[in-house]
Amino acid sequence: MTTERTSVIPSESAFSIAQRQFDIAASQLHLDPNLRDLLRQCQRELVVHFPVKMDDGTIKVFEGFRVQHNTARGPAKGGIRYHPAVTLDEVQALAMWMTWKCAVVGIPYGGAKGGVVCDPKRMSQRELENLTRRYTTAISVLIGPDKDIPAPDVNTDAQVMAWIMDTYSMNVSHSVPAVVTGKPVSIGGSEGRQEATSRGCMYVIQEAAKHLGWSLSGLTAVVQGFGNVGAPLARFLQESGVRVVAVSDSSGGIYNPRGLDIARVTRFKAETGVVTGFPGTERVTNAELLELPCDILAPCALENQINRSNAERIKARMVAEGANGPVTPDADEVLHRRGIMVLPDILANAGGVTVSYFEWVQDLQSFFWDEAEINLKLEKIMKKAFRAVLEMSQTHEVDLRTAAQMLAISRVAEATRIRGIFP
Ligand code: NAD
Repeated sequence: MTTERTSVIPSESAFSIAQRQFDIAASQLHLDPNLRDLLRQCQRELVVHFPVKMDDGTIKVFEGFRVQHNTARGPAKGGIRYHPAVTLDEVQALAMWMTWKCAVVGIPYGGAKGGVVCDPKRMSQRELENLTRRYTTAISVLIGPDKDIPAPDVNTDAQVMAWIMDTYSMNVSHSVPAVVTGKPVSIGGSEGRQEATSRGCMYVIQEAAKHLGWSLSGLTAVVQGFGNVGAPLARFLQESGVRVVAVSDSSGGIYNPRGLDIARVTRFKAETGVVTGFPGTERVTNAELLELPCDILAPCALENQINRSNAERIKARMVAEGANGPVTPDADEVLHRRGIMVLPDILANAGGVTVSYFEWVQDLQSFFWDEAEINLKLEKIMKKAFRAVLEMSQTHEVDLRTAAQMLAISRVAEATRIRGIFP
């Protein structure tokens, strides 16, 4: 698998960035110092090493993580990432962001995240299944439908979730669909989950555009990352009348100022595995793609993409964070000063966990809703969250990220305070 990252990666770690964002919001809130010490750390961090039988008969030992940042508001919730560059530090940051994300949209979960250091693009389906089942067993001391509920993230999908559900169920001798979300519909998955993150992001973009007095029709957009989040978001943008002029994946980017036909790009990617080489487009690097002229830039790949080294050159008027952590705090400052609105990850991509919550509720009740009902409930939650964040930002004269963090931290802090410290 190619793991191209943009040209300059700042040395600051993802978790120290997450803590820096937390500190900014906690200071604005004048948060009690004891609560501050508690909430800026992760509650539990599990590192596992486990053997996997490979197709050539060898046994390979893999490293994996499961981190729970906070469970004051409910069971821990967060995706599982398969990537060669995943680290404990990255998983800690992602777990903390999950806590704030669930609190921003008001769903009753704490935050968690998992990861396995592996290169899934170089593994067969059988090896991936073996790895998933051993990893699930290794972290089964933490996960469970009332304790910690995984979901898909980078390089994991509905099939991986099905293996997790099956492995956990085999170990406890009965079927437990609610142990994981993002499953196939045939085993208790929810209608609308597949595209929920992108749909939620689209609702937030619509609300932000309305607030700014923009009409989406005729605007241009650039989407970095053409996966679970980026590809449907590009389609939703196009369906709203936005001209999507560039998209990318780990192979690089494609650009056509007249606009791309997203349905055709999606078919091309399904056939060839990459977006690059799509006919009638100019090839750009992922670093160049971020700096293309456009109205809406949606980074939907990995962390640290817009940082101190390129923030001054971003030409978009709005940045919608489909990915987690794509804009660093240094870049936030620059974009804010330059009047570029950043729709922060913990709000903009919270649609996925929101529909995961719907899936979990449906599994626990064994009673399922249709997609129209799911999308309507999602829209209501996302738009309400946007308005609450906007109001916080206007009241305290802070950017939307700080406002979203303030809203989330105050909710988690209140839950922690009211529960008290045991013993
Ligand atoms: P995915 O694996 O489906 O897609 C990731 C895409 O990014 C792929 O197209 C990949 O080729 C591309 N990519 C990888 N490295 C890249 C690079 N250096 N430059 C440009 N593109 C690169 O993953 P996903 O589930 O779409 O997740 C993407 C981001 O969205 C992650 O930050 C994830 O944490 C976040 N997120 C995902 C969900 C979800 O429901 N899947 C929910 C919330 C947030």
